[in-house]
Amino acid sequence: MLKVLKFGGSSLADSSQFAKVKKIVESDSSREVVIVSAPGKRCKEDNKITDLLYLIHAHIKYGVAYDGVLSMIKERYAEIKEGCGLAIDIEKEIDETFANVDKKTPVDFLASRGEYFSARLMAEYLGYSFVDAADWLCFDYNGKVNTEKSEEKLRELKSIYGRIVTPGFYGVMANGDIKVFPRGGSDITGALAAGYLGADVYENWTDVSGILMVDPRIVKDPKTIARVTYDELRELSYMGASVLHEDTVFPVRVRDIPVNIRNTNAPEDPGTIIGERFDDELEEETERFITGIAGKRNFSIINIYKSRIGEEKLGLLRQVLEIFARYDIPVEQIPSGVDSFSVVFPSESMRNRKHELMHELSELESIDDCTLTEGISLIAIVGRQMAYRTGISGKIFRTLGENKINIRTIEQGADEINIMVGVYDEDFEKAIRLLYESFAK
Ligand code: ASP
Repeated sequence: MLKVLKFGGSSLADSSQFAKVKKIVESDSSREVVIVSAPGKRCKEDNKITDLLYLIHAHIKYGVAYDGVLSMIKERYAEIKEGCGLAIDIEKEIDETFANVDKKTPVDFLASRGEYFSARLMAEYLGYSFVDAADWLCFDYNGKVNTEKSEEKLRELKSIYGRIVTPGFYGVMANGDIKVFPRGGSDITGALAAGYLGADVYENWTDVSGILMVDPRIVKDPKTIARVTYDELRELSYMGASVLHEDTVFPVRVRDIPVNIRNTNAPEDPGTIIGERFDDELEEETERFITGIAGKRNFSIINIYKSRIGEEKLGLLRQVLEIFARYDIPVEQIPSGVDSFSVVFPSESMRNRKHELMHELSELESIDDCTLTEGISLIAIVGRQMAYRTGISGKIFRTLGENKINIRTIEQGADEINIMVGVYDEDFEKAIRLLYESFAK
């Protein structure tokens, strides 16, 4: 059994967080590979080390002294070193690194040092070997990860060193330059490492006990999702749920490795498991039907009406969609009736061309009427258990109807794992609360 673990910035914010990480790693001997972020915020007003590093780059660019920022960084690492009782001279390493920094130092190199120093300390603390990401995570010149090379190198290093700590967020280009992923990219490093090493599970340790069924800003203390499939996750994150992005976990998905999202501050919580499919279903999941609810505000609906539209419908739809394409407006849904159809799209994509767009549509010869409704929210009710089961949409409509919430649009994908309803923006939060209460209880 091999577990690859990634710890995020809040799990590494200070020496007491480092101590929690050590306890977690030591409690299970299969936790052999650890990927770390840079230390994050200790409290709301605090700074992330990565932000401070980008700030240093800005200082250098404008020729401003950055000693103050650098000492903040040094203090953070010194506190971790002392609090964990480590002998490594991290201050000297930091000084040596910055002694060579000047206007020509690439921003990616500077940004990557947060994870580098973090991994140096963690390796020593755990008694694991430090393996630099620059020694295995290789980028091609097109900016893509070179899978073959990276996999080969990581496997080799793992077989030499056994238990390793490696920094997240960056890798190396063929010319030796450091390149970082987009912000939050240590998640990608963790998924790549788990994939390359064929881990049994990729544990992503953060500061929440898994993915919540619904946005906690809308519903107080919502339940955690015990298990979610990648497809469900994709639907939920597309609809605005702030969860691990599906793209991030792609490297483990293709190798059928489950992801377990865990909480460093509550390691006894089982967290959420993301998997391709689950062969057995838990009783509570079967009873609940749904996995999660997510939603987004600010959509618009344009309704096109043509009496006795008949065979012309397809041609008209094509003309309308061509106009949308020309305006670069992404189409979310196309609900249709006998003599009409509607196009649902994000309002902001119209920008200030609303009148122009409406004018152009109403000029289409073959239509009788064209109306615009703004202020629509879309709510997705997602659940693999919904497929091929009766009564779910009935329950959704009854819940909303009984509470006088008008449903403006309805859509269900053919795989039946997602039912999407459109309601007015002012009903958005109430609708989500009602749906959660009727399904999650
Ligand atoms: N430290 C980087 C950031 O703050 C990467 C990460 O934490 O995943 O974005």
